[in-house]
Amino acid sequence: MAKAQPHRKKHVPQRTCIACRKKTDKRRLTRIVQTAEMSIVIDSTGKKNGRGAYICDQEACREKILSTQLLNKAFKTEVSKDEKATIAKQLAQSLGSEKHG
Ligand SMILES: [Zn+2]
Repeated sequence: MAKAQPHRKKHVPQRTCIACRKKTDKRRLTRIVQTAEMSIVIDSTGKKNGRGAYICDQEACREKILSTQLLNKAFKTEVSKDEKATIAKQLAQSLGSEKHG
């Protein structure tokens, strides 16, 4: 027997992509976090503590955060070239793993 479904929308947390400023379901965004060691990394589990920023899955947004000062602004700090390189690598990996299922 089917349960009666009330017409209530499921609440999905929304976050804003720092690159395109669009609001999207949190689950579809990639979280970038500043760790206690003050390094900026991709938070693939979504559970790391620290100041977080979100970007959506558009390639343009990924490129934008790496080529502009957006990360510096989001974290109010200077994100080093090394950190950006790590983020770029992790983003590429997360894309790759999605494709392989
Ligand atoms: Zn975006």
